[in-house]
Amino acid sequence: MSDHDLMDKLVSLAKRRGYVFQSSEIYGGTGSVWDYGPLGIELKRNVKERWWSRMVHQRDDIEGLDAAILMHPRVWEASGHVEGFTDPLVECKVCKKRFRQDQLGQQECGRRPSKAPGEDDQCELGEPRMFNLMFRTFMGPVEDQGHVVYLRPETAQGSYVNFLNIQSAARQKVPFGVAQIGKAFRNEITPGNFIFRTREFEQAEMQFFVKPGTDEEWFEYWREERMAWHKSLGVRPENLRYHEHGPDELAHYAKRALDIEYRFSFGWKELEGIHNRTDFDLGRHQEYSGKRLEYIDTGAGERFVPYVVETAVGVDRTVLVLLADGYREEDIEGEQRVVLGLHPALAPIKAAVFPLVKKDGLPEIATKLATELREASIPSFYDESGSIGRRYRRQDEAGTPWCITVDGQTAEDGSVTIRDRDSLEQVRVDAARVRDWIRERL
Ligand code: ATP
Repeated sequence: MSDHDLMDKLVSLAKRRGYVFQSSEIYGGTGSVWDYGPLGIELKRNVKERWWSRMVHQRDDIEGLDAAILMHPRVWEASGHVEGFTDPLVECKVCKKRFRQDQLGQQECGRRPSKAPGEDDQCELGEPRMFNLMFRTFMGPVEDQGHVVYLRPETAQGSYVNFLNIQSAARQKVPFGVAQIGKAFRNEITPGNFIFRTREFEQAEMQFFVKPGTDEEWFEYWREERMAWHKSLGVRPENLRYHEHGPDELAHYAKRALDIEYRFSFGWKELEGIHNRTDFDLGRHQEYSGKRLEYIDTGAGERFVPYVVETAVGVDRTVLVLLADGYREEDIEGEQRVVLGLHPALAPIKAAVFPLVKKDGLPEIATKLATELREASIPSFYDESGSIGRRYRRQDEAGTPWCITVDGQTAEDGSVTIRDRDSLEQVRVDAARVRDWIRERL
């Protein structure tokens, strides 16, 4: 399967099974924005819940926050986004297409798609100009410069401006962190690769406030911890690696930055960023707001502006990783099957329940079992249409880990078969025990 094929196959499987649809498709689509369907929303929620559980619920040193998307415009001046959140844009004078100048090699010439922009001698690239990636709108009925507000391009700033609110309300001591999951918006010049780079996306970011001098240790801690999290989602370790930013790649605020990268079919690309942002953000907000953003350590009798170690992962990008990493095509006795090998804890549907035939009371028993599983908060799907083989194939593609079949023997001894998506092994289990059997495996 070629690299190009995999993305095409994922896009079509995602649509077929209800994971992801192109936004506003009936109007021709928006291209850089996607909608999550019935299975997609479940997968995305499961990713977010696992992140929240590990980052917030399982620890006592991280607090949650849900800051507003629209913030005071001065926030983005202080953060450096108004001035510096730009990409170099070049336009081809012949085909009029626009490109990101720092990524020309990864884009296609408007006239000859086999070539990169500028490679074809008919292509004439103009001078680059800096393009700000923030979406602008107006607050209130007056549309003038004084009423400009921005859709946030990252969630982090909400955590910085609330640093003291959270520290005092939650009575936290440094070191402690603030976690947020929320939408961010970037007017990307070249979005693409399905949900890899879009203009509206979701981030799960955590800002860890530490005493200056301990930042390097904490950076090491978070880089290990975040890699462990990705592996805990079942992502194959050989497809994950670190990429350390060299001095020329470092953002203006960062003392050190490292990406966790995934081997996508279109190359190794960033999935998560871990940044040592020093006291840049709190320092700038102090300067711009005129309010002190210091931590007072009463025990040690000192006050300081904490350093920040940030972990920032894209939720949509994680979903793409899970789809790409889990996708496989297999030959089973001469028949091809497509499997989405999602970790059972992440799979949208945990169990599909089938009556072997549509008679002899089997549909009633199967419906009852599916209802019982749902009532036990195990998302389950009842299906009686088509051959049993076809029903298996549909669930394999949807990533459902277990298919439960009610057959003639069920009516006699109350047992059902459970088929494992990956090993294809079938075991007979008492129907009354199915709920616990699944719970043990989640
Ligand atoms: P890139 O270099 O890919 O533009 P970045 O370094 O600007 O990304 P960060 O600002 O560190 O990204 O954002 C943290 C995470 O948010 C990224 O690792 C990525 O997973 C996700 N992310 C950033 N931009 C987008 C986007 N346009 N679409 C989807 N996810 C994104």
